[in-house]
Amino acid sequence: MPDITTPSGVKDILKEYDININRGLGQNFLVDSNILEKMVEAACLDAGDRVVEIGPGLGALTGALVDALPEGQVLAVEKDSRLCQVLQDLFHQEENVEIICGDALEFNWAEELTARGFGKGGYQVVANLPYYITSPIIRLFLELSPTPESLIFMVQKEVGERIAASPGSKAYGTLSIAVQYYAEPEMIYQVPSTVFWPRPEVESVILRLKPGENREERADNEELFFKIVRALFQQRRKTIRNSLSKAAEIDLSRELVGRALERAGINSRIRGEKLTWQEIVELSDIINALLAEVGD
Ligand code: SAM
Repeated sequence: MPDITTPSGVKDILKEYDININRGLGQNFLVDSNILEKMVEAACLDAGDRVVEIGPGLGALTGALVDALPEGQVLAVEKDSRLCQVLQDLFHQEENVEIICGDALEFNWAEELTARGFGKGGYQVVANLPYYITSPIIRLFLELSPTPESLIFMVQKEVGERIAASPGSKAYGTLSIAVQYYAEPEMIYQVPSTVFWPRPEVESVILRLKPGENREERADNEELFFKIVRALFQQRRKTIRNSLSKAAEIDLSRELVGRALERAGINSRIRGEKLTWQEIVELSDIINALLAEVGD
């Protein structure tokens, strides 16, 4: 069997199975054992852990995970049926790997994970993601029950920077808050395009997301919270008071916004991009309460 952690090994196996790369499915294979190791290390796995992998491709990361989990389990979901065939051939003797051929966005994760006992002792998600589904996959797993203990993703560098951005920075926006609301992000390692074959046009980073640590700080009305987030970032150059009182999605009077900001101790002249997600939760809760008072 060719070594799938080298470009020549990947080319050989694709040739053997008569497979052409499908760029539309984000097929950039990891061909650097050092980076594979870094991804596995970032997950801090114990021998008996359970791991979900999205898009196993030709199995390079899957193999590294299997080695790290002699008593554990890997559930890998690959969309490309031709690659599924390679994976079945590669791993059919491994008892602790299950390859599922299907679309990770269509998969019934809640049911399938529970059926396999993944929810009980916890599980992690580790993936070199096809970049075109980065946001929906992150969202899917952050909102999923059972929630993963951690998510280790290879993502496009610019997306990783947006997710981990701090308030006031250029990269900080709705994506930062949508993720930080559910999980603590950490950029673990910058990855050059040379570790993939074929080489993507963008640089990448290994990103770790730790859900759960912020759970007690949820908004009373999450729908309102996300409307407020969108309003604050739609016109970044406006002051908080202006962006909230002119938001098309929420009908808030200038007076009510002023009162809410005062109650939250937030200067109404600063821009929304300066607020942490926790401050926005607090503001959203106050606005929610004021709206209820007005409605009474
Ligand atoms: N894990 C392999 C590696 O590290 O070399 C391959 C990573 S490659 C960036 C992304 C993989 O995701 C490809 O194998 C692609 O076919 C697969 N893929 C793309 N869209 C998918 C989807 N919706 N569901 C599951 N797998 C998908």
